[in-house]
Amino acid sequence: MSETRTIVDRDGREHRFPPPLERAHRVVEGRVVTRSLEAHVVDHCNLRCAECCSLSPLLPPRFESPEALARDLARAAAVLAPAVFKLVGGEPLLHPELLELVHVARRSGIAPRVSLTTNGLLLHRMPDALWQQLDGLTISRYPRPRIPAARVAEIEAKGARFGVRINWKQQDAFVQMSRPHGPADPAETAAVYGRCWLRERCHLLRDGHFHTCTRPVHLATLHHADPRPDGLALEGCTPEGVLAYLRRETPLAACAHCAGGDAPMVPHRLLSPQDLRRDRRPRAPGGGAGSPREPA
Ligand code: SF4
Ligand code: SF4
Repeated sequence: MSETRTIVDRDGREHRFPPPLERAHRVVEGRVVTRSLEAHVVDHCNLRCAECCSLSPLLPPRFESPEALARDLARAAAVLAPAVFKLVGGEPLLHPELLELVHVARRSGIAPRVSLTTNGLLLHRMPDALWQQLDGLTISRYPRPRIPAARVAEIEAKGARFGVRINWKQQDAFVQMSRPHGPADPAETAAVYGRCWLRERCHLLRDGHFHTCTRPVHLATLHHADPRPDGLALEGCTPEGVLAYLRRETPLAACAHCAGGDAPMVPHRLLSPQDLRRDRRPRAPGGGAGSPREPA
């Protein structure tokens, strides 16, 4: 387990990391109120961070279609009421239909706020129309490559001009969620799942399913497996079904291959070509794959 740290944001607010667990969910007007919901609109990225939670450096390119997102959001909006809907990746700015995806999210009414999470390296190429549609931007900043100071100033200015709240996240270290020595035994798997904060803060929408965290779909892609048994089918789902899924005590199958959100932190680094060749090798589920989530 990693030690608890306190992080102060630019507004002077203190945040505990790992964050406290929040397992109480209310139902309001037939929808389960949650902190956030995200869709990974691409799986690939223009960076190759070791310990990337989304495993992006190891995954093939994938582009979410606006039609599929609209379908999933319509189902999700019937039972979920997240405070914010996030378009995430991989690197979402690599999606050629990103603007349409943002429009789809807005039209769905899934959440009062729509935000985008990016490494910021391609932001200067984005049209004003994208800025006009967003409420927030979370931009991860790594030791390498650095976003030049002039570009940071441009982004701040655009945020102010279009009323987009910019959340800069300095990512000098990542949680080491990979399990290089294979899957955990059932007791350890249950303990990791029991104390994992990511299952409350990283809710994912994918292929008609609601997932309590993002790891199962990416581990499944890496291992050519089916992530759906770890998720909740949204077709015909009720708020009670969502609550039962969120409160379940049985770990996900993916948890055996994951060290969880409170695993130790390691310094950020970029994978070398040799690392990539080694880590992309297909392994049977249980072979200890993956790389962890960046701190939220
Ligand atoms: S951590 Fe973010 S920027 Fe780094 S590889 Fe993963 S998705 Fe890309
Ligand atoms: S798969 Fe990993 S991140 Fe997801 S709930 Fe299990 S331990 Fe947590």
